[in-house]
Amino acid sequence: MITGPGLLFVVSGPSGAGKDTLVDALLARLPRLRYSISATTRAPRAGEEEGKHYFFLSRDAFERRLAAGELLEWREYNGNLYGTPRDYIERTIAQGYDLIMKPEVNGALAVKAAYADAVLIFLAPDRFPILRERLTARRTETTEQIARRLEIAEEEMKFVRSFDYIVVNAQGRPQEAIGDLEAILRAERCRIHRYTEETIENIRRP
Ligand code: 5GP
Repeated sequence: MITGPGLLFVVSGPSGAGKDTLVDALLARLPRLRYSISATTRAPRAGEEEGKHYFFLSRDAFERRLAAGELLEWREYNGNLYGTPRDYIERTIAQGYDLIMKPEVNGALAVKAAYADAVLIFLAPDRFPILRERLTARRTETTEQIARRLEIAEEEMKFVRSFDYIVVNAQGRPQEAIGDLEAILRAERCRIHRYTEETIENIRRP
């Protein structure tokens, strides 16, 4: 039952907390959920596809989109630019589909400033040292890049109380975090103020 505009879910938290895996799992489970693909100037990693994982842009092209007002928010992260295209969000929500995105923490707060109704979820590891282990095991970044990501992660943890929810992704138990995320999405959908008068009227009709 489509009940009006879709909801905007923002999953954020430090690099290595498991955002990619958990958001993929949610997308596979919830058919009315769509993913907001970001633009970035970072080079694709092995296996990453244009228009699926990111829109991979040159710095010039990114700056042009920025100047044209096409990005809802953007940030420089570890030497690369990342931003959220505005048009896809607006179109998808208007069609009644829920959207999920996974920006870094400043981006998440910027989305909340633009869409007060956005639901912000902080994804945290059960203990901080696991971030280094996960980033090292992933083998997609150099040692310096990993060190920088861990510094940023410490900064990001300071903003945890600005979020609506926290989900802990405990090592070896991703199913629990997926269950928590799904519960949040489902509960937010059931909140009474998400239902239009028209939908309630349809329910009441004899
Ligand atoms: P990665 O290079 O690991 O794909 O992403 C690096 C960081 O950029 C992650 O923390 C990720 O959440 C963040 N990021 C990805 N897309 C966006 C975006 O559109 N906006 C912002 N602010 N951050 C993003």
